[in-house]
Amino acid sequence: KELPADSTLENSRRQVFEAAFSYVNPKKTAAPKLIHVSEEMLATLGISKADSTSEFFKNIFTGNEIYPNTKPFAMCYGGHQFGSWAGQLGDGRAINLFEIKNQNKQWKLQLKGAGETPYSRNADGLAVLRSSIREYLCSEAMFHLGIPTTRALSLSLSGDNVLRDIMYDGNPAYEKGAIVCRVAESFLRFGNYEIFAARNDVKNLKILVDYTLRHHFPHLKNSSKETYIQFFKEVAERTLSMIIHWQLVGFVHGVMNTDNMSILGLTIDYGPYGWLEGFDFGWTPNTTDRQHKRYRYGNQPNIGLWNLYQLANALFPLIEEAAPLESILKDYKTNFESQSLQMMKSKLGLFSSDKNDAKLIQNLEDTLQLSETDMTIFFRLLSDFTSEKNGFEMIKEAFYDIENVSETIKSKWQNWFGMYANRLQQESLSAIERKLKMNAVNPKYVLRNYMAQLAIDAANLEDYSLIDELFQLLKKPYDEQPNHQKWFAKRPDWARDKVGCSM
Ligand code: AMP
Ligand code: MG
Ligand code: MG
Repeated sequence: KELPADSTLENSRRQVFEAAFSYVNPKKTAAPKLIHVSEEMLATLGISKADSTSEFFKNIFTGNEIYPNTKPFAMCYGGHQFGSWAGQLGDGRAINLFEIKNQNKQWKLQLKGAGETPYSRNADGLAVLRSSIREYLCSEAMFHLGIPTTRALSLSLSGDNVLRDIMYDGNPAYEKGAIVCRVAESFLRFGNYEIFAARNDVKNLKILVDYTLRHHFPHLKNSSKETYIQFFKEVAERTLSMIIHWQLVGFVHGVMNTDNMSILGLTIDYGPYGWLEGFDFGWTPNTTDRQHKRYRYGNQPNIGLWNLYQLANALFPLIEEAAPLESILKDYKTNFESQSLQMMKSKLGLFSSDKNDAKLIQNLEDTLQLSETDMTIFFRLLSDFTSEKNGFEMIKEAFYDIENVSETIKSKWQNWFGMYANRLQQESLSAIERKLKMNAVNPKYVLRNYMAQLAIDAANLEDYSLIDELFQLLKKPYDEQPNHQKWFAKRPDWARDKVGCSM
């Protein structure tokens, strides 16, 4: 029997024990307005376009109306943030609405920015327009790049103002509040399991793991130690595959805390993420991480492993044997080496194998970092490579400051192109076939930080057309789109080091 909601307890901030979630209600907003809806996501969920223009749709997906007979809730999770255990975190500004079953898939829909929950700690449970645009555009763009990710159904304004910054003069700077409806088969994170383990609540840990297996790993049937080990193995494989995908396109997540690691290996929580412009293993978009650069591009695979160690620790009470977990973690390292090599080879259009391939790639990565070289443009232009004679000319567009590329650097490039030309001779594909294959893994269009920023600036002036333009563009990131040539371009100088932020 349902207990009446206790309005004093309902959304009040607290430690929540022996529960995976708490019932909450979204906050009513002043003037909800839908800005954008993903047609692909509507189709995936089986919602008609006509229905998406109704008042009802708008009210549901801004938290102003509760879908009949559903009970929204916020989930309890903990997490390791920047390497330290942070205790209870939870859905501080995410509220799960309901599930939709369509075409044999069961989707969970949640609002981000719909008000406080027991897990909001000292924050307001709200989201601002700029971070919401960034999440909305990027999660759909990642999907179309073929990268495992949570999705987004809709982007709305709440009509409320949200306080984020105090200006130098002490005056508050208000921003427009916004709400994104996110969609995934599951929003469970490593942190959902860690919180029970940290509290020695093995009973509920087991209930949650068994739930996860039943709903998301149905081929792992009976709950036994062997099944839990296999579960961990699959999570490790999915996590690695997700990170290899990130490395492939130059995506840097920015906050790989264990509360942002999906148990399904989906990219989740688009906060201060960014895309590599200049190829640089040391780059991070997260301005709060500029000192240690824990979440830099080149460190993402290691952090994936570190996070899996935390998950292994959390699952340990159900397995009680370290060796099988350790061997899975060891495999992650070996698989990373081999998958990483495969991934880089695919970017270079190499399909046969040669004992010097790793060297060739290492040499390329070193050379790319000698002067600021745009990763996306470089790999895309490389598919036109035919001869070492014009190699450098061909990729010239990728350099941020061609005037300052020294003769030494040029000769290093010449050297690399020579090696690459030789290596290509061992390949059986024609140049045309190779180009097609390379273009299918080296995107032409990614959501560069300045592109999102332009869409944000326009949206702040109530012009939402750029959001739609980028949304449409990023549906076909690997295609030639002649009418969108302006987006195949280096970051303009004004945008250097300007990135969005998570709050
Ligand atoms: P993140 O760094 O985005 O992964 O967030 C870490 C934790 O802070 C999560 O528990 C979030 O739900 C919470 N959080 C972030 N922003 C807010 C906010 N504006 N209001 C309430 N909780 C928040
Ligand atoms: Mg998060
Ligand atoms: Mg976040």
